[in-house]
Amino acid sequence: MENVIIIGSGPAGYTAALYAARASLEPLVLEGEPSQDILPGGQLMTTTEVENYPGYPEGVTGPQMMEDFKKQCGRFGTRFEWKTVTKVDFSGSPLKVYVGDELFETKTVIIATGATAKYLGLESEEKYMNLGVSACATCDGALPRFRDKPLVVVGGGDTAMEEALFLTNFASRVHIIHRRDEFRASKIMADRAVAHEKIVPEWDSVVDEVLGDEATGVTGCRIKNVKTGETKELECTGYFAAIGHKPNTDLFGGILDMDETGYLVTKADSTYTKIDGVFAAGDVQDRIYRQAITAAGSGCMAAIDCQRWLEAREG
Ligand code: NDP
Repeated sequence: MENVIIIGSGPAGYTAALYAARASLEPLVLEGEPSQDILPGGQLMTTTEVENYPGYPEGVTGPQMMEDFKKQCGRFGTRFEWKTVTKVDFSGSPLKVYVGDELFETKTVIIATGATAKYLGLESEEKYMNLGVSACATCDGALPRFRDKPLVVVGGGDTAMEEALFLTNFASRVHIIHRRDEFRASKIMADRAVAHEKIVPEWDSVVDEVLGDEATGVTGCRIKNVKTGETKELECTGYFAAIGHKPNTDLFGGILDMDETGYLVTKADSTYTKIDGVFAAGDVQDRIYRQAITAAGSGCMAAIDCQRWLEAREG
């Protein structure tokens, strides 16, 4: 039987593993399987430059940072398996975690399955991913390719407003493309965005295609007005999708409490879920901050909560 199984391999999962390993819990991390040449490691595996993680004064690529995280928790005896959990049974003790027919029994579980940014699903979005297409302005906005250039943000919620306002620090102009004639965002955020001199809302509009070429990446965006059918091309070097995130919580439906958008609910100021011995850390339970540093901090909290929970039971 395992002391602790950590499901997920981003900053939250690896940090939880680091702390659990140093507490002699010999954690097992079920990292997920590689997909399309991308190794497990969460959203950072598809991020180019990370400049806002303390401790990397020159910046670091997302995949390199995850390799460093993994190496650090491996030093203290963490075990890793490239396996994707397919089912959990938290109805009794021990807790049961399945990978297909393979059963893992464990005293505790730390869930760090993260969230996935939503994109429109256009082929051209995929084609220019990391070549101007991003779903995180805070992560990527300060990169040289976006400086003093027109940019596009898609969406009408608080994330879109926040991303657009943040991007005004670098961009010459930010177009917010929204499919309706009214933002979903809170009034204060929407008002602030609309009033900004660099922000241009493109109402009733959807993105038809992200334009570009392989050498330069994104060069523009073709949008269509849903009321008139008219199309136009916007020049831009960056395309930021801000149409929401989907927390990776399908496994826990009907088992753990979630908010109305599917984020796991943890008890106040802790990583405890409603089930004894099951903890949640990182983006899977964080709809607000969603940063590598906050996910790592929450992974640390989960390992400490887990260690104390075990100590209280086992002395
Ligand atoms: P939301 O779900 O609130 O907004 C998503 C936006 O994307 C909507 O405007 C929606 O349009 C649009 N959209 C969704 N799918 C598509 C599509 N296929 N094509 C075109 N447009 C699409 O997500 P957010 O990430 O903005 O916010 C999530 C939650 O987090 C909210 O509760 C928000 O308040 C909160 N948050 C709070 C912040 C803060 O307080 N500082 C910052 C960021 C988020 P439509 O409006 O037509 O449905």
